[in-house]
Amino acid sequence: TTFAEMGIKDDLLRGIYQYGFEKPSAIQQRAVVPILQGRDVIAQAQSGTGKTSMIGLTVCQTVDTSSREVQALILSPTRELASQTEKVILAMGNFISIKVHACIGGKSVGDDIRKLENGVQVVSGTPGRVCDMIKRRTLKTTHIKLLILDESDEMLSRGFKDQIYDVYRYLPPVLQVCLISATLPHEILEMTNKFMTDPIRILV
Ligand code: AMP
Repeated sequence: TTFAEMGIKDDLLRGIYQYGFEKPSAIQQRAVVPILQGRDVIAQAQSGTGKTSMIGLTVCQTVDTSSREVQALILSPTRELASQTEKVILAMGNFISIKVHACIGGKSVGDDIRKLENGVQVVSGTPGRVCDMIKRRTLKTTHIKLLILDESDEMLSRGFKDQIYDVYRYLPPVLQVCLISATLPHEILEMTNKFMTDPIRILV
């Protein structure tokens, strides 16, 4: 399958090609279409497989860029990964003017507040800071329809389990969830049972 055959909109295709991609990687081949169909997806994949790019393109395809509401939330274990995901979304979304904010520790809270109040469609962050922004009511969760948990096993080993559950509690009951993890230990499967509905499981 090509990116065009996946039903990706023209302005996003331009961004993907400009970014230098010609055809989807294995994980993109298998996960993009189910995610775009609205399915919950568990992807067992390592870094370097094209998973960040997969997140970027599915988020760019699904959010309404004319809205000022946060519609997609991506949680990552590190500030670096959350920023990298933000950059990929901005690069691929070059022709769709998508608004993303990296909500990460170590940056000023004032900056988060300004950016979020100005209106963004996507938040890419670490569980601690995202949880904080939700509790301060700076990050409004009402319109979030897609939650992506990236490097989930790594988030758990860094002690973010409680914060992830906390964040989840604030999200709308109708929610699409995609979970990416290199390994699927018991605690991850517990999360998939709690957060996901009839998920498709993909191993790459
Ligand atoms: P990621 O796991 O998304 O960070 O991707 C790992 C590396 O592969 C990055 O350098 C990406 O730019 C690259 N990459 C991801 N998907 C594709 C693709 N479909 N075609 C070519 N390169 C890709």
